[in-house]
Amino acid sequence: MSRLHREGHNIGRIGWLRAAVLGANDGIVSTSSLIVGVAAAAAGKSEVLLAGFAGLAAGALSMAAGEYVSVSSQADTEAADLARERRELADMPDLELDELTSIYRNRGLTPELAREVARQLTAKDALAAHARDELAISELTAARPLQAAMASAATFSVGAALPLVAAWVAPLPALPIGVTAASLAFLALLGALGARAGGASIVKGVLRVVFWGALAMAVTAGVGKIFGTAV
Ligand SMILES: [Zn+2]
Repeated sequence: MSRLHREGHNIGRIGWLRAAVLGANDGIVSTSSLIVGVAAAAAGKSEVLLAGFAGLAAGALSMAAGEYVSVSSQADTEAADLARERRELADMPDLELDELTSIYRNRGLTPELAREVARQLTAKDALAAHARDELAISELTAARPLQAAMASAATFSVGAALPLVAAWVAPLPALPIGVTAASLAFLALLGALGARAGGASIVKGVLRVVFWGALAMAVTAGVGKIFGTAV
């Protein structure tokens, strides 16, 4: 089927793309904010790099843990839904057939055709039909906690490494401005890549990512400055 007709829809890519862009975006923004904030408090270069590296490690682990917990609970919910559906199919197959029929009627089929579609799909794989059309669980959407956790940690680390490298190569006096400029450039690139892969507007993607990143860095640098002069 797909060989005859390829439209190249992007919706299947949205899941991992969203996670990858989010991870890298978080890594760039939080690490560069941390670096700029510590540098604004007039710390030496080794303290700045140490803070940035600690931020990378802490952020990657917390992203992995957060993603694991959230995707696991989604997977638990899906598993519980499927188990209940399997029970219902065994206990009351007639009611379940009616239920599937009414789903297809609501989607616009005539009652007779809806009945026939429900009957044939039930004969083929009743649980798959209910999972897909009643619970909206498919192979594509099925939650994978470990994969999501590792992907988040990896993309966060890649994002966090970029401002860290910029801080490493920049001379100390130019460090805040250098890290900020490099990070905004990375964010713009990331926004463009994400928009392109998702088939959305590139300008919109770039502006959105750069605006929020710049805001986060400005606020953190301000906080660093206040605390740097206060202590
Ligand atoms: Zn059902």
